[in-house]
Amino acid sequence: MSMDYEQYLSKTAIDLKPSGIRRFFDLAASMEGVISLGVGEPDFITPWNIRDEAINALQDGYTSYTANAGLIELRQEISNYVQRRFDVHYDPENQIIVTVGASQSLDLAFRAIVNPGDEVLIVEPAFVSYASLVLLAGGVPVPISTYSDNGFKVTPEQIEAAITDKTKAVLICTPNNPTGTCLNKEELTQIANVIQKHDLICLTDEIYAELTYDDGFTSMASIPGMYERTILINGFSKGFAMTGWRLGFVAAPKEMVDLMVKIYQYTTMCAPHMLQRAAIEALQNSTDQVEHMRESYWRRRNYIVQALNNIGLSCHIPGGAFYVFPSIKQTGLSSEEFASELLQQEKVAVVPGNAFGESGEGYIRCSYATSIEQLQEAMKRMGRFIDSLK
Ligand code: PMP
Repeated sequence: MSMDYEQYLSKTAIDLKPSGIRRFFDLAASMEGVISLGVGEPDFITPWNIRDEAINALQDGYTSYTANAGLIELRQEISNYVQRRFDVHYDPENQIIVTVGASQSLDLAFRAIVNPGDEVLIVEPAFVSYASLVLLAGGVPVPISTYSDNGFKVTPEQIEAAITDKTKAVLICTPNNPTGTCLNKEELTQIANVIQKHDLICLTDEIYAELTYDDGFTSMASIPGMYERTILINGFSKGFAMTGWRLGFVAAPKEMVDLMVKIYQYTTMCAPHMLQRAAIEALQNSTDQVEHMRESYWRRRNYIVQALNNIGLSCHIPGGAFYVFPSIKQTGLSSEEFASELLQQEKVAVVPGNAFGESGEGYIRCSYATSIEQLQEAMKRMGRFIDSLK
């Protein structure tokens, strides 16, 4: 008997847009000799001292559940880290949850604050998960487009113009995926003023905070008046090269954290025990390794920005993360056509900018988390591709 599955499936889930990144990965993976500038993850293996701690933790038998919010020793270490790096204090007992990646922190945060129909403002181009997670929580994602002429920075006026009586929260991501744009203290303060004036919540995704190259990093939670209304999201994936470990954290006012823990205990229980042990080591003893990786990304950023501009793809200098977001408008191709023809002709995988929202059309995202030799070869091939279009 053939089944009509649609009637059994969730309409909300069916209606979610498929990720525009996945499709290109699948295609690239089926071809040989492809240089991928597509993936959003470090090319480094997790520093050895952290891996060693995970092995020790397994050997020592740390294989049980932990408290829902995570090991208190790890939460204490996260609290120390956030205080040290971002100058804000969170009580480890009541204000921090160890999650299964920042992805899950985002999911918990939206589920904890969104009532049906609530609007969440999302600064685009944006990480592909945000809008879908808002929809899954029953909310309405409202995009705010940013553009390259001011370095993809959202203005307070833009945020103010998007606010309605249904707006619940504003999501900020700095450094940004896919543009690499960082917001400085003054820019954050201006945004914070609008958020406070309209009595909104701020979700701040700071997963790339360790990877800034020019002016250091300011956390939205440290801006006066924001601590009480900010949900801070961060994790180990990017700065510590720990994507596969699936470890993140969320820090917020106690009332919000209580609700997130309630959801978490039904959906996930806790993050893996042995990996939480190793995360303590990551926070205590990896400053040099993190700095080494940061420096390496910084060198590659400087190389790729110049190389792209040299081959005629104009590219602003991103202050953080490991992405560049050059314009391909002058080629006359759409971002999907560009990515697809570049892959077919020269076997270089990039992500079309429209995967990150409407204002990403006309751009491509290239990740420079790959060796300088690979980057050089990719730039040679892209140069040839651009020439072939003339
Ligand atoms: N936020 C942003 C902006 C990201 O780019 C990513 C990963 N691509 C995440 C969150 C999710 O990170 P994690 O691996 O911690 O779930």
